[in-house]
Amino acid sequence: MEDEDGPEYGKPDFVLLDQLTMEDFMKNLQLRFEKGRIYTYIGEVLVSVNPYQELPLYGPEAIAKYQGRELYERPPHLYAVVNAAYKAMKRRSRDTCVVISGESGAGKTEASKHIMQYIAAVTNPSQRAEVERVKDVLLKSTCVLEAFGNARTNRNHNSSRFGKYMDINFDFKGDPVGGHIHSYLLEKSRVLKQHVGERNFHAFYQLLRGSDDQALQGLHLERNPAVYNFTRQGAGLNMGVHNALDSDEKNHQAVTEAMRVIGFSPEEVESIHRILAAILHLGNIEFVETEEDGPQKGGLAVAEEALVGYVAELTATPRDLVLRTLLARTVASGGRELIEKGHTVAEASYARDACAKAVYQRLFEWVVDRINGIMEPRGRDPRRDGKDTVIGVLDIYGFEVFPVNSFEQFCINYCNEKLQQLFIQLILKQEQEEYEREGIAWQSVEYFNNATIVELVERPHRGILAVLDEACSTAGPITDRIFLQTLDTHHRHHPHYSSRQLCPTDKTMEFGRDFRIKHYAGDVTYSVEGFIDKNRDSLFQDFKRLLYNSTDPTLRAMWPDGQQDITEVTKRPLTAGTLFKNSMVALVENLASKRPLA
Ligand code: ADP
Ligand code: MG
Repeated sequence: MEDEDGPEYGKPDFVLLDQLTMEDFMKNLQLRFEKGRIYTYIGEVLVSVNPYQELPLYGPEAIAKYQGRELYERPPHLYAVVNAAYKAMKRRSRDTCVVISGESGAGKTEASKHIMQYIAAVTNPSQRAEVERVKDVLLKSTCVLEAFGNARTNRNHNSSRFGKYMDINFDFKGDPVGGHIHSYLLEKSRVLKQHVGERNFHAFYQLLRGSDDQALQGLHLERNPAVYNFTRQGAGLNMGVHNALDSDEKNHQAVTEAMRVIGFSPEEVESIHRILAAILHLGNIEFVETEEDGPQKGGLAVAEEALVGYVAELTATPRDLVLRTLLARTVASGGRELIEKGHTVAEASYARDACAKAVYQRLFEWVVDRINGIMEPRGRDPRRDGKDTVIGVLDIYGFEVFPVNSFEQFCINYCNEKLQQLFIQLILKQEQEEYEREGIAWQSVEYFNNATIVELVERPHRGILAVLDEACSTAGPITDRIFLQTLDTHHRHHPHYSSRQLCPTDKTMEFGRDFRIKHYAGDVTYSVEGFIDKNRDSLFQDFKRLLYNSTDPTLRAMWPDGQQDITEVTKRPLTAGTLFKNSMVALVENLASKRPLA
């Protein structure tokens, strides 16, 4: 093999190990890592170890080394895998996907960026303008998505708080002609609150630190993130540690510029900044009970009225309507008559938070949709241009365990179980085909099939998500605790489920609060506090109507469902858990239809 490392670099493919014990596996990985070899194959699977430092592995020279080669011709590299996917796509018009998995901070998102850079570098030799445009959008969209969807966590300073699946469409020449991004479950609770040492989404700090004085004034903002409830926790933290250039100020310019290049209009960018500012002001609104009972307000007032004015101005909605929406909600009484019901302090605070989260989520989804609109393959006629072939890249949140794990971690880890299952199915299928090709009798391989864990979560009627939906649809005061009791009843004999109630001696779980799932990647204890609320994920129709009636066309476009009157809203919307499950099922079906490379 040309240009291959000698034996002192360990085995480039784990398949070459004499015996495959965990110890040998780790030893080989370590040996290679110490020599700067972060990549190792297991057959067609690439294992990557995060070096947490810049290694001279990437860039034009390295790309040239892998371009057009066969997988095993060069030392293991991500580029070799992408090259294989690209060749399969081009030679055989085969849809391919690259699935990147690993725990949070493992280097998945960085890998997805290297994949895009490789594809951009090896395509469009004839410099067609439309292809250049698509490549530019593909590359630049990453920094925009990261601004709105990433945040500093204790595991990763630039952690993706959403899942991403990106399809790149290629024409018969093998040049990218379009793309589409699917995003999955943004961790929007982060808008309100972050763990110690963590931050809100980058976009907020970028806006505060990167805007010039005049822009800030126009948004009624102060530069210091500690002034705002939503950004106070992370105010003393920056986004980058490895790289001093990675400052919020610089990134604000970079993101604004990227949006411009991609094709966002200046008005759209301004709307985005106003929406972010409105969320920050909303977060500082507090409610107080008033002495005298106003005619409609039920004795509730906003502590600092100026903030209501800012929110109204920034969202281009009438001030009195903003105030009314914050203090009360419309309910349809028996005879279809609408009455206004005043909030308590707790209800109003809850509604304010739900609104802040929803506005941010809609903003994020709008940004993704906008990028998709720009990347959509344009004016292509399959009869004339031939069928597009697709390479999909999946960069989804890794398995996650925090000191306290909530609904979000539950969804993330369920997603990882789902992918693990897909992985098992695809790899086994591939191996089996290979055995058959080589005429070897098929030997069954011992492996742990995690199907039972997936079932525990998604099975109809009794699965955790179904039980949770049931709890959410029950009228009356059903609590997270009752939800936990129901889980205990259904799953007391499940080998992967436990709780304090079921294991009274296990002091690592709290009674009436925690349950534990034995995931394929490890045990995770979940606190049920907030599960029902987060799953129900409701926002009063009044807020939706308010925002739909905004005179800012960008904001208005994010709230099509605000068109409905409260009396027209009959169907209970699907819960967050069910929506997530449906999107996971669709994702897995889509991936299963493609040829995998991991
Ligand atoms: P994940 O998406 O798996 O959570 P990231 O891709 O964001 O993790 O990686 C976390 C951090 O690790 C990055 O910000 C970067 O500093 C570092 N890193 C990841 N991959 C590489 C790499 N190939 N070379 C150098 N540093 C890397
Ligand atoms: Mg990531």
